[in-house]
Amino acid sequence: MSETSETTVVAGSMVKPLLETRNLQAGYQGRAVVQGANITVYPGEVVCLLGPNGAGKTTTLLTIAGELAPVDGLVMLSNVPTFTPMYQRVRDSGVAMVTEERLVFTKMSTRDNLRIGGGSVEDALELFPELQSRLTVRGGMLSGGEQQMLALARALSRKPKLLLADELSLGLAPLIVDRLLGAVRTAADQQGTGALIVEQHARKALRYADRMYLMARGQILLELPAAEAITRLDEIEEAYLRGTAETEEDHIERKRRKDKRKQWRRQRVRERELTRLTGNLVSTRKAEEDDNYFELERVRRDRAMRARRGKR
Ligand code: ATP
Repeated sequence: MSETSETTVVAGSMVKPLLETRNLQAGYQGRAVVQGANITVYPGEVVCLLGPNGAGKTTTLLTIAGELAPVDGLVMLSNVPTFTPMYQRVRDSGVAMVTEERLVFTKMSTRDNLRIGGGSVEDALELFPELQSRLTVRGGMLSGGEQQMLALARALSRKPKLLLADELSLGLAPLIVDRLLGAVRTAADQQGTGALIVEQHARKALRYADRMYLMARGQILLELPAAEAITRLDEIEEAYLRGTAETEEDHIERKRRKDKRKQWRRQRVRERELTRLTGNLVSTRKAEEDDNYFELERVRRDRAMRARRGKR
């Protein structure tokens, strides 16, 4: 690949991408659900990854974060092919990830919740001054919107190079959605953070973004500047997003059901979240080991149920 295709000219200087995926194939147990995704994010850029349900957006983000290993292709961080697991990307490569899970330690005060990320509490409060009066309140007593502000403030106060945000505004009031997306924009403008965000609210997200990719059935079908995407959004929604679209309530409900499996393994989730937050490896247990466990459990339960039915 030539030098010019790996870099872009910004204000007369050559800027290297923070993130570049090359022909990325991502999926589970060696089976790709994302096929050949080429995504770039430059410093100071907010990039939206849009697409219908099941398109592969979360899978892509998890693979870029290092939580899933690519089935094939490359994830390049600051022009370096990166194969390290998530905790090392958080610790050494300036990656931060925020999801709709609103990672807040419910028994810790807001101040301690901010401290645990290792960033500056002052910087966090600068982004979200509304947290100032809530510093001594336990995380569990915050509203959903405040919890997500806390999670995002904590991630951004570490001054990450690359922020990955998966549906961070899910189920929150429009005003909060604006605050969250606005903070991502501010971090991009003031800290040079590059952000790749997955959002349900396409129109709103595009207002804060520079560029967008449209993913459907595991493939990137479109790449457009955000301003152009806004003018063509009706057409894009008609062609790709409608039909498979759900109401926000249905979407949350479906995510909850999907997350049930995760709730069963709360300990595992906590370990992963701490790893994500601090860049320290909390457990060396692999997700597949949990999957095997749950698969065995499912087989055992099915057998027991069949045996019970047979007795009746
Ligand atoms: P959504 O808005 O529904 O979360 P998405 O675009 O984020 O959509 P993904 O969650 O990445 O989509 O899912 C892409 C595909 O991968 C789907 O077909 C889904 O069923 C499958 N998938 C997701 N998680 C797993 C998993 N743990 N094991 C196997 N397949 C999975």
